[in-house]
Amino acid sequence: MTQTFQLPTRIYFTGFMATGKSRLAELTAAALGYRYIDTDHHIVKKTERTISQIFSEDGEESFRHLEYQTLKEISQEERVVISLGGGTLTQEAALQLVLNNGYLIGLWADPETILERVNRHDDRPLLSGLSSEEKLERIRKMLKERESLYAKAQFQIKSSNDIPHHVLVRSLLSRLQLESLTPIQVNLQERSYGIYIGQNITSLTEAVLNKTRSPNQCVVVTDFNLRDYQRDALRSLHQQLGKCRIFYFRPGEEEKNLGAINRLLSFLIKHKYDRKTTLVAFGGGVIGDMVGFAASIFLRGVPFLQIPTTLLSMVDSSVGGKTGVNHRFGKNLIGSFYQPRGVLISTHILQTLPEQEYLSGLAEVIKYACLWDEQFFTTLENQRTAILKREHQALELLIHRCCTIKSEVVARDEKENDLRAILNYGHTFGHALEALAQYQGLPHGHAVALGMIVAGRLARLLGLISPEDEARQRQLIADYGLPTSRKVLKTAAWDIMGNDKKVDDGNRIFILPKCIGKVVAYRNPPQELVFEAWDAIDPEVQA
Ligand code: NAD
Repeated sequence: MTQTFQLPTRIYFTGFMATGKSRLAELTAAALGYRYIDTDHHIVKKTERTISQIFSEDGEESFRHLEYQTLKEISQEERVVISLGGGTLTQEAALQLVLNNGYLIGLWADPETILERVNRHDDRPLLSGLSSEEKLERIRKMLKERESLYAKAQFQIKSSNDIPHHVLVRSLLSRLQLESLTPIQVNLQERSYGIYIGQNITSLTEAVLNKTRSPNQCVVVTDFNLRDYQRDALRSLHQQLGKCRIFYFRPGEEEKNLGAINRLLSFLIKHKYDRKTTLVAFGGGVIGDMVGFAASIFLRGVPFLQIPTTLLSMVDSSVGGKTGVNHRFGKNLIGSFYQPRGVLISTHILQTLPEQEYLSGLAEVIKYACLWDEQFFTTLENQRTAILKREHQALELLIHRCCTIKSEVVARDEKENDLRAILNYGHTFGHALEALAQYQGLPHGHAVALGMIVAGRLARLLGLISPEDEARQRQLIADYGLPTSRKVLKTAAWDIMGNDKKVDDGNRIFILPKCIGKVVAYRNPPQELVFEAWDAIDPEVQA
């Protein structure tokens, strides 16, 4: 299941003449420990004639045939970097051969740079005998003709005399690594985006920005805790994003309000940021929700990227596009649906997360397993030690699974008209507990864990779920060190639940389990059964 990080075994370089593709291909091969092959050199060696000779003596058609045969032959090899001739891909068959067999990188440069380089080595058959002006004109024309071909490359790199080759190779390798990390796709037509999960991927941010079509002027928004705990990651982001500014919020839920949003907007306006700005949310759910909301309203919408730093934000809030802030009358009452351009998840960042916050995130993880995937539930039962120790592989596996589930649900119901409501499993009871505690001293994840236990009991009382499955869910929650008991004022809880967003036209809707891995929306269960269900967490009843 887990994301495989596997570099392509054949990497092809295409590009116009004199864009430096042979040199770059050679350096890339050296960096990867791959064999380097230049198709032109190969042909020269095989025929013992220069390319110019073959062109003038046999004609272009005959050369293209020879070139295609050579390409076929070397495309059998593995772990190779192949530099293609400037016109190789003008043949459809050659293009298909390359795309089917490996990974294509396109290089381009300005016509003037190409001319200057061509003039240094006057050995280009297609330009021989022309004056400098004629060459430039010819280069422009040929570039225009081949533009659409080079665009077939999986990604393109600009070569110029100002960027040293080793810098280009480094950026190219980051990009290749990223391409090899198949993202989880959130499919929402033109608003689709990828979720990238890795151990330490802050260094790949630049590549993600390119890949996600985000403009390169960035502002990172984070909080003071992350400034202290994630100094290195922030420094690296700052470098990667072109020494961008960093804006800090105070940490915590109290900051999630319109006043704080206004401070961020004033900062952006004061520093004259325009619509080509990407806001980068580096933080937990609070930062993600606030930055997403600010991005949705600043200049009527600018792109934003999510780099979640808590387990909860990795598995839940960073995916799906719900953004917003709290109002004094309630949580998340002001906001918008606004999708990020991409989500970058580094499991390494979780190492500094306080234990209670980590456990809170685990409650949401358990929620996904209960509502969607029995096999994942079993994995959580079996991998408890590795997960609690925050081992990379275990984390990658569980984040990957949760994000896949969430993206599937969101893709089917982006604006929570129907299916998406199942993600609120455990939340109706959980919110009531949080409200009863006046949002103090009961972490959200703990409330969700308790909420799932009560939902499990209500489902059993309604005859939806077996006693075995109810017990299994409770056991998993307990095994992860989440609470299983709490005193509740049932009447007050009933009233609070009556004001819940999930109340539809006076109907009380509860998301309840049918078995491990499946939930249903249940309307108006009898009040006495809801009251009885609270006993599942009552410490006195249990005792
Ligand atoms: P949070 O954002 O408040 O972060 C928790 C605390 O951990 C903060 O103090 C933060 O500074 C600190 N922190 C974050 N990352 C850290 C790290 N790597 N190391 C050390 N400290 C770190 O809390 P949260 O649980 O991530 O998010 C809760 C918020 O998410 C709520 O406001 C909730 O409404 C929202 N939410 C939104 C959605 C959605 O779909 N948009 C879904 C669920 C929850």
